[in-house]
Amino acid sequence: MRRYDAVLFDVDDTLLDFRASEAAACRAVFDLYPVTGLSPDVVLAAFQHASDITWDLYVQKRITRAEVSDQTFESLARLLPMSDHVDTHAAALAFDAAFAEHSVAEPAASCVLASLHGWYVTGIISNHEHPAVQRRRLAASGLARSLDVVVISGDIGIEKPDPRIFNYTLQLLGMAAEQCLFVGDSIISDDAGAREAGMDFCWYRRHHTTPSAPTTTLNIIQSLSELLVLLDAPDVLER
Ligand SMILES: [Mg+2]
Repeated sequence: MRRYDAVLFDVDDTLLDFRASEAAACRAVFDLYPVTGLSPDVVLAAFQHASDITWDLYVQKRITRAEVSDQTFESLARLLPMSDHVDTHAAALAFDAAFAEHSVAEPAASCVLASLHGWYVTGIISNHEHPAVQRRRLAASGLARSLDVVVISGDIGIEKPDPRIFNYTLQLLGMAAEQCLFVGDSIISDDAGAREAGMDFCWYRRHHTTPSAPTTTLNIIQSLSELLVLLDAPDVLER
């Protein structure tokens, strides 16, 4: 007898690779705003340096989500020999548009989700201030078709680890917490929130990350395909 009726996921760095998606969007934007004399790898490294700094400012609540891309491109304009005439706000808007379209799935995410879908109720609970962007990223990656329920913090004004976003999802599903497994990469947002809501948690320890906080979870996977073994789910390729 199977243990769960639903398998729910975090999105960024669980189903989608945030850094790879950002890099793909960055390449698309610098096709429009070329930086002469520098290789694409150098431009990308500078972009990711600037992006890391602005995301830290956002996490510290010193800037809003809407200011992240503007700040990143303003920093980048100081770092790189971009033309003085480059409109950093236009570049930031172009980046945001490209980011929504250039989502890169984690390895095996598509196959694992397709395998689970139909056997389990599947869904995501994601922190994102712009639900339309997150939905577009899920659609662009092809993952949306294997998701039964999509819950994004920006739609309801509650973010993980607040257990109310997990409870809201349970209400949508008409399920009890014990029927669901939540899979995520963050000990702080995903583990703490899911378990406070009463769900079992599976830590996706991507890239052998050191836990950002203590955890007692026993379900640890290093690749998403291990989830099929953990759940004993049939692989879609065998059906
Ligand atoms: Mg995550």
